[in-house]
Amino acid sequence: MAAASKNSRTSSSTQKFFCSCGGEVKMKTLFENGKIKNVAECEKCKRLERRPSDFK
Ligand SMILES: [Zn+2]
Repeated sequence: MAAASKNSRTSSSTQKFFCSCGGEVKMKTLFENGKIKNVAECEKCKRLERRPSDFK
């Protein structure tokens, strides 16, 4: 097997997600029942999902 010398850039921490409407999905922090909750919200249509990957 050939040694794979891929220097894949895994340092990019923030990955962009886009809603089906074309809007950008941004992470939001909400406080619900005294707990911190992270949700993903579309900037355009204000659709809320638990994870950015749910917008696919
Ligand atoms: Zn949207």
